[in-house]
Amino acid sequence: MTQVAESRQASAGPTAPGGSESVGHWINGARSAGTSGRSGPIFNPATGSIARQVDFASVADVDRAVAAAAAAFPAWRALSLSKRTEILFRIRNLVEAHRRDLAALLTAEHGKVPSDALGEIARGLENLEFACGVPQLLKGGFSEQVSSGVDVYQIRQPLGVVAGITPFNFPAMVPMWMFGNALACGNTFVLKPSEKDPSASLLLGELLAEAGVPDGVFNVVQGDKVAVDRLLEHPDIAALSFVGSTPIARYIYETGTRHGKRVQALGGAKNHMVVLPDADIEMAADAAVSAGYGSAGERCMAISVVVAVGGVGDSLVSAISERLPRIKVGPGSDASSEMGPLVTREHRDKVAGYLDSGPAQGATLVVDGRSDASFGGAGFFLGPSLIDDVTPDMDCYRDEIFGPVLGVVRVDTYAEALALVNDNPYGNGTAIFTRDGGAARQFQFDCNVGMVGINVPIPVPVAYYSFGGWKASLFGDTHMYGPEGINFYTRAKVVTARWPDPGTSSVDLGFPRTR
Ligand code: NAD
Repeated sequence: MTQVAESRQASAGPTAPGGSESVGHWINGARSAGTSGRSGPIFNPATGSIARQVDFASVADVDRAVAAAAAAFPAWRALSLSKRTEILFRIRNLVEAHRRDLAALLTAEHGKVPSDALGEIARGLENLEFACGVPQLLKGGFSEQVSSGVDVYQIRQPLGVVAGITPFNFPAMVPMWMFGNALACGNTFVLKPSEKDPSASLLLGELLAEAGVPDGVFNVVQGDKVAVDRLLEHPDIAALSFVGSTPIARYIYETGTRHGKRVQALGGAKNHMVVLPDADIEMAADAAVSAGYGSAGERCMAISVVVAVGGVGDSLVSAISERLPRIKVGPGSDASSEMGPLVTREHRDKVAGYLDSGPAQGATLVVDGRSDASFGGAGFFLGPSLIDDVTPDMDCYRDEIFGPVLGVVRVDTYAEALALVNDNPYGNGTAIFTRDGGAARQFQFDCNVGMVGINVPIPVPVAYYSFGGWKASLFGDTHMYGPEGINFYTRAKVVTARWPDPGTSSVDLGFPRTR
């Protein structure tokens, strides 16, 4: 049994279930209660009850975490690549060993069903595995004899203390997108998770400590805008990675860069799945259902609009709608559940509102998730819902719904489908379903979107590529994780070197040039 498992068994700490316990921070290698006196409720979305409270950091709490990270930075960056890699391998193995504990926390606080929670951990593990390759990733370039007796080489060095601010929908994976590469590159890290499901971050803190991450290298501050604003302006934070909704992403980018920080801020999405007339309709329907309703639609790469091209609308709508009654909606505690609740009652009610506004604005409600047995109880459930005849002027098309509501837009031509994708302010993901390789290749060439699937509905890149949208789905220059993540968390230094050779030395006030 690992040390973390032993301590979790011996004492019901802040991450164990219970009514009034408080989830605090992780600062300098230990749990730390908040000092602000402010806190917020953590719900169990499947029951609707308040399970715990989460401390909201004060400015002083954030400053303690940043001070711990700043103090830990010199020794961590000086640790050899071999030692850092050893620790990264241990982190990877401990997260793998505790994937069920992490998944249980995700189910308890986010509501996602265990298979989905385990899938989230698996995708996060890919990023930790990528970070284990850091010695290879940090190799620089070397040019010998650029001038007589002169060599030039480039090295990449860490930035210092970097921060990550993460959304509710991936409480373990998105932090792993960030901290694996950040630590591997020699930075120290302060994580501000979503206040809706904060407990996974503390378990990650414990696992990192058990893996041998020195105190202060990885810290967690819980909280809200107060904590985020302090991170944005703190003089000792060099860079910020953010994932969340578009309005907050824009705010993070503008405020962070104004304070001189390097910022990558990933925002919201409205992902279109284009179905051409030659597509395999059954396969397209399976994909639309999996990508539209998985994780109750609370994924930034969820399909939220199906674009039916050239007369496939009727058969596609009928194939999707006949699949929906078979989806088992229920709590993650029931092993047969395929789709869990939404994260809060407020969010569930907002999502359900589109089932009224869509038809009021002229759409056709084909499947109403409010008729599912799960709706109306204490938990925040809404059954899978389908709206047909959606047009771009409707709220259910314009807004990122972030729930189990799929819209169908019918168009006549590929050009109309492409215009929908390209006119949309978001550009996170998109997919095309077709048997025509030429059409797929043209779509890949034409679309203004960062991640494209060809007969693949959720094209989240593997960890050795990078993740990022275009347009209002990403603010900043660099995509997240993969090679671009390594670039984001390092800066280049180029060294021009000559070793003493009195025979070639002379004074020359001209601009240096090669000889
Ligand atoms: P959110 O923007 O409400 O919150 C994200 C983070 O910002 C949280 O840590 C939150 O505490 C903080 N925050 C919220 N309001 C703030 C404010 N006014 N000032 C400063 N900080 C604030 O997002 P969410 O509801 O947690 O997550 C869902 C959103 O995230 C969706 O829009 C989804 O598309 C997006 N998302 C995008 C990606 C991506 O990779 N592009 C991935 C996952 C989620």
